[in-house]
Amino acid sequence: MKNNIEMRKWLDDFKLDHPLVIAGPCSAETEKQVLRIAHELKHSDASIFRAGIWKPRTRPGGFEGVGAIGLKWLQKAKAETGLLMAVEVANATHVKLAIDHDIDVLWIGARTTVNPFAVQEIADALQGTDKIVLVKNPVNPDLALWIGGVERLYNAGIKKLGVIHRGFSTYEKTKYRNIPEWQIAISLQSRFPDLPLICDPSHITGRRDMILEVSQQALDLNYDGLMIETHDDPDHAWSDAAQQVTPSALKMICQNLKIRRQTS
Ligand code: PEP
Ligand code: MN
Repeated sequence: MKNNIEMRKWLDDFKLDHPLVIAGPCSAETEKQVLRIAHELKHSDASIFRAGIWKPRTRPGGFEGVGAIGLKWLQKAKAETGLLMAVEVANATHVKLAIDHDIDVLWIGARTTVNPFAVQEIADALQGTDKIVLVKNPVNPDLALWIGGVERLYNAGIKKLGVIHRGFSTYEKTKYRNIPEWQIAISLQSRFPDLPLICDPSHITGRRDMILEVSQQALDLNYDGLMIETHDDPDHAWSDAAQQVTPSALKMICQNLKIRRQTS
């Protein structure tokens, strides 16, 4: 991977004076919920609206997402708010459907980054598009798998690339849902200095009262952006209820963050 400059450009195109903020619910639940949250986020620091519509659950029995119908809701949210839309994709069919519905940003989830065949299938399906693609770290603390995911997309010609650090699962009992292991993300960053690095404090902490603290740690480490799960009724969210914040809480978090501006 040589052309780091091109990888950074998509982020610079946002012309932000603050970190890139991606916000929205863990899961799209209903059309009304998507539209309500998107409208509330329209006047916030968020530039990109996220919502999972295909939810790979570790164990069966949980809510697995509304599926392709959610893409229509996101299209509507985009038309009404002007926010860019982001969804998680886990296979080539998801990629095709997302492209057909003008989704702007596709991210690869932690349970997919662990599977090179799935990542390759996604990379192949994305060939020839100019979508922004973000690769979450794999669930387990394995830097090589994360790098491999990025390389597969880069080799398929995807230049608008970035990574999302969402922490790593562990048997240790810690205050985190997924321990950050910051050094793994920093190591990736030192390898690809121009690959935008986004922190997902929602999945790292698993609890809304720690989002500000972990977001600040990420910014102090020079991260380029934050992905924060945001729901208008977090306690009744269909997935990840404990970690989601309301749009007004998100605004407070963004106001309270101390932003280190680049001097170089
Ligand atoms: C999500 O973003 O809602 C999600 C499922 O994340 P992860 O892949 O990091 O577990
Ligand atoms: Mn989630």
